[in-house]
Amino acid sequence: MPPPAGRRADRRSVAGRYYAFVSTQTPVTPERVDFIREIVTADVRSGQHQTIVTRFPPEPNGYLHIGHAKSICLNFGIAREFGGRCHLRFDDTNPEKEEQEYIDAIEADVRWLGFDWGEHLYHASDYFDQLYAWAVALIRAGKAYVDDLTADQIREHRGTLTQPGRNSPWRDRSIDESLDLFERMRAGEFPNGARVLRARIDMAAPNINLRDPVLYRIVHAAHPRTGDAWCIYPTYDFAHGQSDAIEGVTHSICTLEFEVHRPLYDWLIENLPVPSRPHQYEFARLNLTYTVLSKRVLLRLVTEGHVRGWDDPRMPTISGLRRRGFPSEGIREFASMIGVAKADSVVEVGQLEFAVRGVLNRTAQRRFAVLDPLRVVIEDYPEGQVEGMSMANNPEDPSAGSRSVPFTRELWIERDDFMEDPPPKFFRLAPGREVRLRGAYFITCREVVKDAAGQVVELRCTYDPATRGGDSPDGRRPKATLHWVSAQHAVPAEVRLYDHLFTRPDPGADGDLFADLNPGSETVLTGCLVEPSLAETAVGETVQFERLGYFSPDPDSTPGHLVFNRTLTLKDTWAKLQARGRQDA
Ligand code: ATP
Ligand code: MG
Repeated sequence: MPPPAGRRADRRSVAGRYYAFVSTQTPVTPERVDFIREIVTADVRSGQHQTIVTRFPPEPNGYLHIGHAKSICLNFGIAREFGGRCHLRFDDTNPEKEEQEYIDAIEADVRWLGFDWGEHLYHASDYFDQLYAWAVALIRAGKAYVDDLTADQIREHRGTLTQPGRNSPWRDRSIDESLDLFERMRAGEFPNGARVLRARIDMAAPNINLRDPVLYRIVHAAHPRTGDAWCIYPTYDFAHGQSDAIEGVTHSICTLEFEVHRPLYDWLIENLPVPSRPHQYEFARLNLTYTVLSKRVLLRLVTEGHVRGWDDPRMPTISGLRRRGFPSEGIREFASMIGVAKADSVVEVGQLEFAVRGVLNRTAQRRFAVLDPLRVVIEDYPEGQVEGMSMANNPEDPSAGSRSVPFTRELWIERDDFMEDPPPKFFRLAPGREVRLRGAYFITCREVVKDAAGQVVELRCTYDPATRGGDSPDGRRPKATLHWVSAQHAVPAEVRLYDHLFTRPDPGADGDLFADLNPGSETVLTGCLVEPSLAETAVGETVQFERLGYFSPDPDSTPGHLVFNRTLTLKDTWAKLQARGRQDA
């Protein structure tokens, strides 16, 4: 969407969108402003906050996925639009599941998405000393106690949505005894699960999160950052809000499942001597059709070998989408398209593809590649001659320049661009028919050569030298234009085609999620032949194979063995559905 005229000076492009800045630094977007940005705007206007501080708080127990990208774009986007800052904070409170590999991958993914936390890299584990001191303060104030019940007993005492909970027999033990036990928990005197520290709030509270929630548990496990310094670790609830307060976070934005935790978040902030007063706001998490966004499930897909790894191009992880060839701009564009709402919904995965296709159509260079080759010999073309045909790299972008594609007497075309006995609506090559070879010449098929099994192995053709470049001086216009590769110059390649990882839009809805895995989600084509310039295409770059789709070199690719991933087909089913919807309406 073009920016409004006349305000060029105060516009900045943010994540592919234009924002006009007014003096209060309130962003005016061409689209609607979401409810979180409305809240932030109001807080800036009322003077409640001078500097807006947000954070993205991943737990390093897996790789980031497209749902996290929504949260990253929201948190970093708001910080950028309001001239504030966004922290990257690792919520590293569960050493049994967390690994350095995940920490490194998360940092790389956030950077690749185009965001920068500057010097504001934090870890919940940075605050373990402070959190411990605050836990002791709560015990001293009679607001926390050490409980000897097991996890099962605690669950059983907690009650249900309709029934109040019951007090633990240890709830009223003395402050001194709790202090002593908590210190000994920390000293490593007890095994995992023997005791926990709980807040003393209200076992009859309608909100179960307020029924004496657990604040600390015993976990004898080495931590990626603090090593063996601790054997008790704070829960998410005890770490999160306090970390926000320590860092001066103004708007702690999270997904809806934390809404019921907000009263506890507020209780802890109000009952501890924290240095600032953050507020939690919740938005709807991203759900996508044909896709599972749960790190637990994604981990199983990896460990059980259903995919090639966390960055398998079929995975909804940021690293998988990157490997598949999705540009980060396309992901940011998608986040901006879907917006931020308060109610849960499921987004069509086609909408993500639509956003990515829009970016690629603008930016991807065009190339020739033949996936299923059929030999063409142009009988009247001089043997040994090589002509460099100048081809625009991107018709959408003249600055992308052009390249020279070698044309020779023997070529490869796509096998399904020929039919010996074509039905009425097939306009491509057939015996006696003339077609255009893109950017080269018109050719006519004169003879079909078959092998002993009757399989077509070669087409003998003639060409019209007057049509060089793809146009005929007499105005003849063939009904089809084919892509081609010079046989002498073609480079062999492996091409991997992808389909949805799951067969149904709501994987697992019938119970077994893994039964819904799509056995045809990956197809490996070998013996593909591509134009020579594709040997130079770098990993991380996505090109359009003309007429076939968008493709990107896989990191498995080597100079002697090129491997390309199909990023997307050219077909845009989502846009078609939208158009049909409009017609019906
Ligand atoms: P998962 O549910 O996939 O296991 P998680 O919520 O446990 O993810 P965290 O590392 O805790 O993963 O998430 C970091 C941040 O990303 C949180 O603020 C969380 O709310 C947000 N987030 C996670 N999943 C989504 C999603 N599908 N859509 C939007 N935000 C999400
Ligand atoms: Mg979480």
